[in-house]
Amino acid sequence: MDQARSAVSRHRLLRVRDWPIWSLPRPLRAFVLVVIGAYLAWIALRAATFRFGTEDVLLFAALLACGAATVELTRRSSEPSGVAKDVYAVWELPMVILLPVLYALIIPAIRTALTQWRVRRAPVYRRVFTASAIGIAYGAAALVYHGVLPVGYHPRAYMWRHADLWLLAAGAAALAQWVVNQVLVMTAVKTADPSTRIRKALFGRESLHNDVTELCAALLVSLGMMVSNLVLIIALPLVTLLQRSFRHAQLLSEARADAKTGLLNAATWERDATAEVARAVRTGSPLAVALLDLDRFKQINDTYGHLLGDEVLRQIAGTMTQILRDYDLAGRFGGEEFVMLLPQTRAVDAFRIAERVRAHISELPIYSGGVDGSERVPVTVSIGVAALDAGSRRELTELLAAADAALYRAKASGRDQVQMISTSRGLSAVRPPAEDVAPPDGAALAGGSVPADGVPADGVLTTDPLLAATPFLPT
Ligand code: GH3
Ligand code: MG
Ligand code: MG
Repeated sequence: MDQARSAVSRHRLLRVRDWPIWSLPRPLRAFVLVVIGAYLAWIALRAATFRFGTEDVLLFAALLACGAATVELTRRSSEPSGVAKDVYAVWELPMVILLPVLYALIIPAIRTALTQWRVRRAPVYRRVFTASAIGIAYGAAALVYHGVLPVGYHPRAYMWRHADLWLLAAGAAALAQWVVNQVLVMTAVKTADPSTRIRKALFGRESLHNDVTELCAALLVSLGMMVSNLVLIIALPLVTLLQRSFRHAQLLSEARADAKTGLLNAATWERDATAEVARAVRTGSPLAVALLDLDRFKQINDTYGHLLGDEVLRQIAGTMTQILRDYDLAGRFGGEEFVMLLPQTRAVDAFRIAERVRAHISELPIYSGGVDGSERVPVTVSIGVAALDAGSRRELTELLAAADAALYRAKASGRDQVQMISTSRGLSAVRPPAEDVAPPDGAALAGGSVPADGVPADGVLTTDPLLAATPFLPT
């Protein structure tokens, strides 16, 4: 089966008109082809005047081996998806400085082929484009470097006489490489997806810091190699460590997230939420905690399968992220339970937000992929909200217990609804009026008022054993 599939895909690769590059939008395709064409032309131009030197080839091989070692390391620490930062420039900038341009031009092609083979498969045209962009960037770096230094000097000889000027030239080359590469790659990225935020991708703190560190390390290794090529042996462990540290931010965010939905995982949510609650109590500001549980999710799993169940979970997480504000905390508590923490939010607004989440979810266009693939899967959730009114003192565990009680009430009262308890207005869990999304502040929260839909007043509610068990019960 697998063999058949790979035979088919090999066959596809052989047929030029089946290449995925032709399915790209026209401007992107044109740009990609121009960059690749320019790269190949540059290589051809340089190859025509290339003079072979044994010493050069040996140095190239040594640097290539270091690069290959880095690829293997990436492989073992499993390259994350997305644009990963790497340290290859540490091995490749010395090529720009010490070797004829042709070497710097072809190294990205060799290295990308190695990555494609050993680490992660990507569409071939994308790899070829990446290699071309890096190759052109190294070519530009070489132009800058040789443009700054006087003609006729061997780099080593020049460095010993004018160390500062040499460093300046090497630094300018490193910078040119970075700028040219980013311009080419970001043009492609922006053409492919105009909504990409270039500034964040390029000048985000983490990304910029990694790039600067990589180039500084590349400069130091280049400088060391002016003394001896054996410096490579000393540099290898350091660069290895650098490569690992580049994954630090990634690992950190992975450790915080729930793998299935991308929301915060339970432990992280609880830690962050505890801090938020403490801050709200300290500053006397309002805050709300909401627990969300899927209605009859077991039935959805049983009817449509677990894979569709997982898709439902992801879509719900997506809805929460879409509706909540940047500073709200959305987490997956476990199985099919989610939590939200809404800082700086009054009870009435918390209710409104929870209700919006509920309404959005009940309208999610999720379809089961049966033979005709068009049966809509009805998904609803129940939400329990616990509001910490301004000036109240509660801990997260108390708020969670109260939200849980409200959620229980939402389930018991027919599901697909929001129930809320707030701290300072006494105990009042209120069902939303059937039509109006947000209850008016007073009517909804003040204990004793009977909402339009006939939910009993507080006197009755306090006899609810679960609500009575919550810490909100006036003592
Ligand atoms: P209720 O309305 O009372 O909440 O009913 P329910 O069926 O949602 O509640 P119950 O607790 O009986 O069932 C929860 C189900 O959630 C059982 C379990 O199979 C499913 N579930 C939990 N985690 C996952 C998951 O990660 N993926 C999928 N597909 N299902 C999950
Ligand atoms: Mg549950
Ligand atoms: Mg459930």
